[in-house]
Amino acid sequence: MKQRTKNVSSNNNNNDPHSIVSECRLYDGIGENCGLFGIFGDEDAVRKTYFGLHSLQHRGQESAGIASSDGESIQCYTGMGTVRRVFRSGQDVFEKLSNPIAIGHVRYSTTGTSKVINSQPLLAEYSRGQVAIAHNGNLINASLLRDEYEAYGSIFKSTSDTEIIIHLLAKPTHVSKPDPLGHVLNHLQGAYSLLFLYSDRIEAARDPFGIRPLCIGKIPEGSFVVASETCAFDIIGAEFVREVQPGEIVTLDKDGLHSRFYVSPEAIKPAHCIFEHIYFAKQNSTLFGENVHQFRKKLGRQLAVEHPADSDVVIPVPDSGTSAAIGYAEQSKIPFDMGLVRSHYIGRTFISPEQRQRELEVKLKLAIIREVVNGKRITVVDDSIVRGTTTRGKIRALREAGAKEIHMRVSCPPIRFPCFYGVDFPTKEELLANNRNLEQIKEFLEVDSIGYISLDGLLSCTSLPADHYCTACWSGKYIIPVNTAVNKFSLERYQLHMFDEHDVQNSP
Ligand code: SF4
Repeated sequence: MKQRTKNVSSNNNNNDPHSIVSECRLYDGIGENCGLFGIFGDEDAVRKTYFGLHSLQHRGQESAGIASSDGESIQCYTGMGTVRRVFRSGQDVFEKLSNPIAIGHVRYSTTGTSKVINSQPLLAEYSRGQVAIAHNGNLINASLLRDEYEAYGSIFKSTSDTEIIIHLLAKPTHVSKPDPLGHVLNHLQGAYSLLFLYSDRIEAARDPFGIRPLCIGKIPEGSFVVASETCAFDIIGAEFVREVQPGEIVTLDKDGLHSRFYVSPEAIKPAHCIFEHIYFAKQNSTLFGENVHQFRKKLGRQLAVEHPADSDVVIPVPDSGTSAAIGYAEQSKIPFDMGLVRSHYIGRTFISPEQRQRELEVKLKLAIIREVVNGKRITVVDDSIVRGTTTRGKIRALREAGAKEIHMRVSCPPIRFPCFYGVDFPTKEELLANNRNLEQIKEFLEVDSIGYISLDGLLSCTSLPADHYCTACWSGKYIIPVNTAVNKFSLERYQLHMFDEHDVQNSP
């Protein structure tokens, strides 16, 4: 039976702080990294989803949302900002959402605009009932598919690549297939880890390359859960069971957990985003068969072997550079110390959508412990350098604090190519290592020496075979063919001519 949508989001209420007063027309689906959480059959499902999203907050801070089902109909609440901000009214929202089946999403988009209309889960009704979708990744054929559907009269209400999945699901010739969802997923190209909430079940799917992570957990004697990272299991007392396999759909329903594959075995070619391990994931998560902290320590040790530095102290760029710096210090026998202190009350700079915010945030978020660096030869270990401007800002600040020599060491190779699979390396031209040799990078950063881990060195640290990882941002070898002339701005179709509260707050 078709259920009526109960959307308790304030998205349609212009008096509410979360509301949209307009719609924007930027097609901004490309280049996002998000966090997913889902739980089936738990009387406290919504609160557990809330805490799960909290632990995934590092994956996206622009919007958050939860959709839940009582077995018959779905309620959804989304808004702009962190999980805490979106759900700040607490008990009222939890009571309205209070249902035993739930999925949640935290979002980061990579265009300059970020809209509540694109916040997820995305809720829709079609001939088979209701569905709410949460997506992590980037569909590289979304624009083509959208053109095709618009040519036949489809109307899109968001500018997210995720919405095309709803149109694919609703197409009558797809609905009649034996496995409509599997059929639809075969139309998608790119990176996708997806959660679908139907009134009576959750379906979790991963693309045939397994580019973005998606894990299954279980609360002992309790419910099955799914999440982007295992850190979300720790907070609710769930145990890691296994990852959703590339090309697999896992269903969570009243009978437990069921699995099916929607592609042939030959089509499954693991190409996990190794940048998840290097930068995005939380240190206490286990991804691609290995704990993130341990993996980063291995990178640090390998980096010390490849690029030793004659210095007095090793300091990390916290937080994601800390584990690699520990490994570097252990291997090099140089003392480790904290020369930079991160404020946790401001978001990660790399995942801020606008450059002007990024520069301001760097100043706000990293403080220097002068006593650690003054008069010292220091080795600074960072996990990655993307544009280089923020790194140079840190280097200048360390010099001002009295550092005598600064040796920069980086636990990933020079990033030379953009990512089309859901991480924000905006354009090739903006990348520091694009068309610069090491000497030029050294000069740009104003350091005394520079050393990046080699790609072979990086891959020697992985627990899975080297060909199970995507390395395109270093090697330029894209496992799924992409049009490299396209960047996130190429897909912007129309001028932004309407706005909402969020834009007003962020206007120059
Ligand atoms: S191009 Fe780089 S960031 Fe993008 S999926 Fe591949 S490894 Fe990850």
